[in-house]
Amino acid sequence: MNTFDVFPFEALPELLLPWYERNRRDLPWRKTKEPYRVWISEIMLQQTRVEAVLGYYDRFLAALPDIAALASAEDDALMKLWEGLGYYSRARNLKKAARQIMSAHGGTFPGEYDAIRALPGIGDYTAGAIASICFNMPTPAIDGNVLRVCARLANSDADILLPATKKALEAPLKAAYGKGRCGDITQALMELGATVCIPNGAPLCESCPLSSLCRAKAAGTAEKLPIRIKKTKRKEEYLTAFLFTAPDGRIALTKREEKGLLAGLYALPSLSGTLSEAAAAKAAEELGAKPERLVSALQYDHVFTHITWHVTCYRFEVAPPGENAPFLFAKPGEYALPTAFMKGLRLI
Ligand code: SF4
Repeated sequence: MNTFDVFPFEALPELLLPWYERNRRDLPWRKTKEPYRVWISEIMLQQTRVEAVLGYYDRFLAALPDIAALASAEDDALMKLWEGLGYYSRARNLKKAARQIMSAHGGTFPGEYDAIRALPGIGDYTAGAIASICFNMPTPAIDGNVLRVCARLANSDADILLPATKKALEAPLKAAYGKGRCGDITQALMELGATVCIPNGAPLCESCPLSSLCRAKAAGTAEKLPIRIKKTKRKEEYLTAFLFTAPDGRIALTKREEKGLLAGLYALPSLSGTLSEAAAAKAAEELGAKPERLVSALQYDHVFTHITWHVTCYRFEVAPPGENAPFLFAKPGEYALPTAFMKGLRLI
């Protein structure tokens, strides 16, 4: 169940806004609702700590005080102003967007969410922040901070690294914007995430204005949330598979072990590692296949969720299998074979 849907986000402003008024940090970009200034601060704050941005913000605005100045800034001078902040594409996109505002919006920062979102370098989060802070629109700005706070409030165990989780939060969180003061809601949530409902360890629930509503606090799960599942790199495995074909067209099959990948399924005989032709011929002999002729070889990859197989498959014609043959001989298609081995049947 999506627990965001059943959390009363509409109850946040009453508790959150008075707390924000008493506890907000005195930051230069909080003194204005001027879109150009808010925009510059939001872009600088992406992937950068507040303390680091403080040294840059005023200097940047003193040198480039408005959109027109940014649009016509020399590239070298712009990079110099950004030097040390990192992620230089942010600065390049600022200038691109400024030029776009000059040409498409007559030099005035657009006041519609879609037009803001369409500017270079502005994603959902930044568009939501600018639209709510500067134009009082009910457009939640959802970043990792806000996702963490909301996952704890709603006691949600959804993986906050999934885009679907952010999507699932958007509509319910809008309820917090219902009574106006949209910019303050955006900034208060950010402030709470930065100073009270903090990451990496114990959130400061005893100082939290939302503790009476917080379902993770009630359930004792606040320290375990939010859930962030990092994608693990797929393991790479190398395999040599054998397509032993009898004179009557039947092929050799084995059953895989009852544990592990493709457990208990029919498969082509295989060995781990990549064998050369000569080593494969020797191995075929040792497996008891009675190989007579190497006909062809094929290499392919097969991707499972956590493993990639790099398969080298050799087709050998073998002597007619006797009663004690170490494999089951069957017509192709007679038994279901996993796709990872079906690819080897292309050799026939
Ligand atoms: Fe975060 Fe604790 Fe506040 Fe819940 S009560 S929102 S976990 S700081």
